[in-house]
Amino acid sequence: MAQAKLNSKVMSILEEKIKLIHTEEGAIYLVGPVQLPVNLYGETVTFHWYCWLNCEEVTEDFERIIDKLSSVNLAEMQQSSVLAYGDFENGDDAIIRMHSICHTGDIFGSKRCDCGYQLKESMKMIVEHGTGALFYLANHEGRGIGLFSKALAYILQENGYDTVDANHMLGFVNDSRNYDDAIRVLHALREKPVTLITNNPKKIEALQASGLPVAGRKQLWGDVSEYNKNYLETKINRSGHLNEDGTCCND
Ligand SMILES: [Zn+2]
Repeated sequence: MAQAKLNSKVMSILEEKIKLIHTEEGAIYLVGPVQLPVNLYGETVTFHWYCWLNCEEVTEDFERIIDKLSSVNLAEMQQSSVLAYGDFENGDDAIIRMHSICHTGDIFGSKRCDCGYQLKESMKMIVEHGTGALFYLANHEGRGIGLFSKALAYILQENGYDTVDANHMLGFVNDSRNYDDAIRVLHALREKPVTLITNNPKKIEALQASGLPVAGRKQLWGDVSEYNKNYLETKINRSGHLNEDGTCCND
């Protein structure tokens, strides 16, 4: 498309689907909703999909931002997104999942972790509940260490290190995930309380610390196999995850 400037018709279509969210470092541009029909366990379910982009430039003139997109190679730095379901803004009782991206688990169906199962299962819980959202956090690969480092950590794990020790040996803290942007986006989409789908108290703490009214917690366990048994036990014993009785076993 040999077009230097976006025409006004294109801008008028896009403008009303973009929202500016101020952050400490600049801005988040949230685009959506896009109607997204999804194959969920053989049934077609339509979600309202949003995607967001962090940017240093803060402007209500979205044409300035769109103009820059073709030159910044966004595919090299993955963006995060949200699948909302039902009346997420106004529904009284919504459940949400903050899902950390897992290339191996979510895409390939790796059984070394329970991420793929948790992704599909939380989507199903949201649909069955009637109102909710799944936040898919693209900068959380390997608890924030990135995919390449995760491959290295897996090799260490194959040689006897647990998930926490493997990350430490590579010079990473165990968990460097940050939920600030996701929380900002959540605030932009909904102000009412939410119930979290999680086994991880740190997620509850992060959301509560941001001033978000958390109504409760729903647990999500399952898909235990010989391949991920050690991984799941480490989550409970070393990473502060709650076990199925809701007790925190952090050391
Ligand atoms: Zn995973």
